[in-house]
Amino acid sequence: MPQSGYTGSGSAERLRAAFRAGRTRPLEWRIKQLRCLEAMLVEQEGPLIKALAADVAKPEIEGWASELASTMGEVRLARRKLKSWAKDRRLAIPASHRPGRAWVHSEPLGVALIIGPWNFPIQLLLSPLAGAIAAGNCAVIKPSELAPETSAALAQFLPQYLDDSAFEVVEGGVEASTDLLAQKWDHIFYTGNGVVGRIVAQAAARNLTPTTLELGGKSPVVVASDADLRVAARRIAWGRFFNAGQVCMAPDYVLVESSVRKNFVEEVARAVATFYGADPTRSPDFGRIVNQHHFERVTGLIDAGGYERLAMGGQRDAVTRYIAPTVLDGVDDGAPVMAEEIFGPVLPIRPVRDVREAVEYVNARPKPLAAYVFTSSRDTARLVERRTSSGALGVNNVVLHATAPHLPFGGVGESGMGSYHGRWGFDTFSHQKAVLTKSTRLDVPLAYPPYTERKSRLVRRLL
Ligand code: NAD
Repeated sequence: MPQSGYTGSGSAERLRAAFRAGRTRPLEWRIKQLRCLEAMLVEQEGPLIKALAADVAKPEIEGWASELASTMGEVRLARRKLKSWAKDRRLAIPASHRPGRAWVHSEPLGVALIIGPWNFPIQLLLSPLAGAIAAGNCAVIKPSELAPETSAALAQFLPQYLDDSAFEVVEGGVEASTDLLAQKWDHIFYTGNGVVGRIVAQAAARNLTPTTLELGGKSPVVVASDADLRVAARRIAWGRFFNAGQVCMAPDYVLVESSVRKNFVEEVARAVATFYGADPTRSPDFGRIVNQHHFERVTGLIDAGGYERLAMGGQRDAVTRYIAPTVLDGVDDGAPVMAEEIFGPVLPIRPVRDVREAVEYVNARPKPLAAYVFTSSRDTARLVERRTSSGALGVNNVVLHATAPHLPFGGVGESGMGSYHGRWGFDTFSHQKAVLTKSTRLDVPLAYPPYTERKSRLVRRLL
């Protein structure tokens, strides 16, 4: 039985009635819904930021930039580009099919289920929703129960702004997700960990439902000896310690060329001191761990050892779920911290002989959501680009690709399947329907039985 407060039973069928009635098809309706979503983000900014702070202790500017501004960018882009994205695309046809015309028509899939995680509890629900709306779908969104304030705020505000015959927020945890997954959807868009990703894929398989899985993994950073170490250290430290490390494509570990290892570690320590001061507990710009379970998991990874030196950090406070920005220098391959995605403010550093060894190291492990390389050589950057596989690659930067709405965002292999952001989100929630149309005026009997020898000869010549 679904837990109390759960309202999602039969949601898919209820919304499908609106879809079948054609409610979501007109572009004007879609544009109106996108405008309403924008209005919600502007008018409810205060309560949404407050909810984020309560759930994930996000510094205000991080919450605003990574959640509200980035979602707003997605929604606006979809609204402005919708007419051009939705246009039929004329395509060539072979001589044998002429006279005739062909095009691709993007049609909405139907009713989508969007399940989000807690770490960016607004953006990771509303950015896919923008794609679903733009493509003309109905949708149920299921926020994470680990961000309860944000979940409640979305459940309160979205129905006030969006057409409630086409969209619904369903709150709840595993039971709610399980009940939703038992229903028949036309697309399931899931963001979260890979264990649940597999549960989602199995549930989707029962109805052959297309699925986008936005998962995580260990995203490596390669630091070559010719890199600008100061800039590399600052950018990597920013990406690792943003949101207290609870970012899916954050740099998870560093493979640094041995010759510059010492300097690099010193630069990271310097960057952290500049960002968060001598005592990061007092910095308003450093976040906290989402809950006790994850606090114990991350501190357990630090305490389990398997590295030469605790270069910095390690301090913690269970009451406030604070874990200091931590750097583990000289990690072993068998260290627990190298066995799972860290998802916390811990940066392991592993020395490598050269960039080729780093490439081999990455290729011996599951394909990550992102890979990063810091180098001043185009050849080195190209080597990492062409010889490794990851959802995305950042050269001399981390994380930023995810905030560029014209780039596709998604994983590969164990880090996920499918992509979204901008046009890619529109395509994810659309079916590309091939349309071929012919006049009936000319009807050459060549293709019809009986297949005489003369017809066969002609067909062979034509095709
Ligand atoms: P989470 O615990 O909030 O779970 C995500 C969603 O799955 C929630 O809505 C939850 O209710 C649902 N869920 C949990 N257990 C379920 C079950 N047994 N059956 C059905 N649904 C269930 O978030 P999380 O998974 O801890 O999120 C962190 C992970 O997500 C990390 O691995 C991170 O890398 C990944 N992530 C990926 C992206 C991306 O865009 N690729 C973004 C953020 C997070």
